[in-house]
Amino acid sequence: MDNLTPLGRRRLMQRIGQRNTAPEKAVRSTLRRLGIRFSSNHKRLPGTPDLVLNELGTVIFVHGCFWHRHSCRAGRSAPTTNKIFWEKKFRANKARDRKVCKALRAMGWRVVLIWECHTRGRNLARLPERVRDTVCSS
Ligand SMILES: [Zn+2]
Repeated sequence: MDNLTPLGRRRLMQRIGQRNTAPEKAVRSTLRRLGIRFSSNHKRLPGTPDLVLNELGTVIFVHGCFWHRHSCRAGRSAPTTNKIFWEKKFRANKARDRKVCKALRAMGWRVVLIWECHTRGRNLARLPERVRDTVCSS
């Protein structure tokens, strides 16, 4: 089901690769509140993690639910036009996420994934425990 207007989709697409998004800001302020030190956008690391917690040996990705196909409603919604294009795109995104995660873990990093929908409202209160969740535990 396509629940995005063309304008909504264009906005969404413009957000790809953009840094310092609202979800990212929410995660940063939570980390600050917890007194956890971090730095941002390490281009020398695979996948350019959004946040790097050097002292904890942890990298954090703040993932958009739509692009990275979260199991929530936003992640399950898909455009009905150009279906094959989108399916390919989503598959490629997921494959890249897995590859990046593997590479980082091979370098000794702990990889944490925080979904966009977990950075809003009531869910934000649960961020600290989510920071401890690992992404590719398999
Ligand atoms: Zn989600």
